[in-house]
Amino acid sequence: MENKKVRLRFAPSPTGGLHMGGVRTALFSYLFAKKHKGDFILRIEDTDQTRYVKGAEEYIIESLKWCGIEPNEGVGFGDGPHAPYRQSERKELGIYKKYADQLIASGHAYYAFDTSEELDAMRKRLEAAKVAAPQYNSVTRQNMRNSITLSEDEVKKLMTAGTPYVVRLKVPRNEEIRFHDIIRGWVVVNSTQVDDKVLLKSDGMPTYHLAHIVDDIEMEVSHAVRGEEWLPSAPAHILIYRYLGCEEKMPLLAHLPLILKPDGNGKLSKRDKSGIPMFPLNWHDERTGENYTGYRETGFFPEAFVNMLAMLGWNPGTTQEIFSMEELIEAFSFERVNKSGAKFDPEKTKWFNQQYLRKKTDAELAEMFRPLLEEQLKNIPNTAMPSQSYIEGVCRLVKEKSHFVNEFWASGIYFFIAPKTYDADVIKKRWNEQSAAFIKSLAAAFKTLNTFTAPEAEGIFKVTAEAQGIAPGQVMQLFRVCLSGAAGGPMLFEMAELLGKDEVIKRLETAIEVIKVP
Ligand code: GLU
Repeated sequence: MENKKVRLRFAPSPTGGLHMGGVRTALFSYLFAKKHKGDFILRIEDTDQTRYVKGAEEYIIESLKWCGIEPNEGVGFGDGPHAPYRQSERKELGIYKKYADQLIASGHAYYAFDTSEELDAMRKRLEAAKVAAPQYNSVTRQNMRNSITLSEDEVKKLMTAGTPYVVRLKVPRNEEIRFHDIIRGWVVVNSTQVDDKVLLKSDGMPTYHLAHIVDDIEMEVSHAVRGEEWLPSAPAHILIYRYLGCEEKMPLLAHLPLILKPDGNGKLSKRDKSGIPMFPLNWHDERTGENYTGYRETGFFPEAFVNMLAMLGWNPGTTQEIFSMEELIEAFSFERVNKSGAKFDPEKTKWFNQQYLRKKTDAELAEMFRPLLEEQLKNIPNTAMPSQSYIEGVCRLVKEKSHFVNEFWASGIYFFIAPKTYDADVIKKRWNEQSAAFIKSLAAAFKTLNTFTAPEAEGIFKVTAEAQGIAPGQVMQLFRVCLSGAAGGPMLFEMAELLGKDEVIKRLETAIEVIKVP
């Protein structure tokens, strides 16, 4: 193990859209591989053809690309020394059958011919006898049709007649199975709790249990990182490695904690209703017709999504929360992955995006906002695209209170269209003869300015208010409402500066005309 090159694989089954838990598994594997200058492989585990979903593989590849979690070997990312990387294609290499035959030859696996009706009947029998976990095991196999209970001749006859069969692992009775998990430490399970897992079917297609072990051995995988749901089958996997005589080739295991619902009550579901997506990209499930919204399409930055995911179950041991991919690679270790489930926090997820939004330059934000703005303005008569510096100015002002670029239009609409209505509460409270007169003199005062910067506008605003015996604070919000229609928004005088002198004066004059003095 000492000298083994660090090689981790992400091995999803293309049975649906890759949800964020899957992306986290890929991320942790990627971080560890990169930290140790190792390899990161994408292997597609498509042995269960009945669960194969069209488009899932492409979806997985596109999601990883969007997140910047790029394998250096594997499906969609270029072949390495262990191609092919799709298990359905690897089957043709004959490797799965070879390993299964080896297990049969050494007496650690056997053929089973039971039909699904016979298996059902067994289950019912065991349930009726109140057996807690009905399973095919060292006891029940004795009453079934397999190469342990049948004579050699009978087995041969069934085989030549082409009777469908499966190869099952012969799990010993009452044996202690111990293994070490990097996250959980030592795990001890009695073999009584492990069933005789199906390893291979008569068409030569392996199940996950055999296929991933063969591939992890053949691909020289050093660490197998996967979800907690695989922990119960790990003891069977330990036995397979042992029976193959490949214990020293076994990767170190790391079972990641579950991602829990925001209230901590159970596993996070892909139908979670927090309003935050569960999938990296939009996903349409062809079988059920369901649509799932993606982080990308919601307006999340991939860096924010990745940063948030890294914090779900891992912590750096410091108070630092914002990590670039490079920083994550540097800081990551399995020792700091928690054993217990990680609560998903929708608000925190948005907060991460906000942090990244604030870190973007105005030019970068303008680049992202421009197409959205074009889309809006093209439907509005008499509007033209504003200048680049104007768009950047809007981004600078609205970003503070936004989580997403796609909120900029709604929160900054008045930068592009003069208001048609005015916040009713503010008008009711603040609009009177005196304040209307103030707005009128303010427009006149602004006209006298040669340059119109925020400090100048603010200065003359105060002077004008005081000259009329009004405390500036009393009319500040009213001024805002005359400009934008809205009671809240970015820094007032910055907003005025960006709108520009002429536009500000025009809006004040319109307000005086439109808003009736009570
Ligand atoms: N194909 C398995 C899954 O999709 C992979 C588990 C593993 O990484 O071993 O969950």
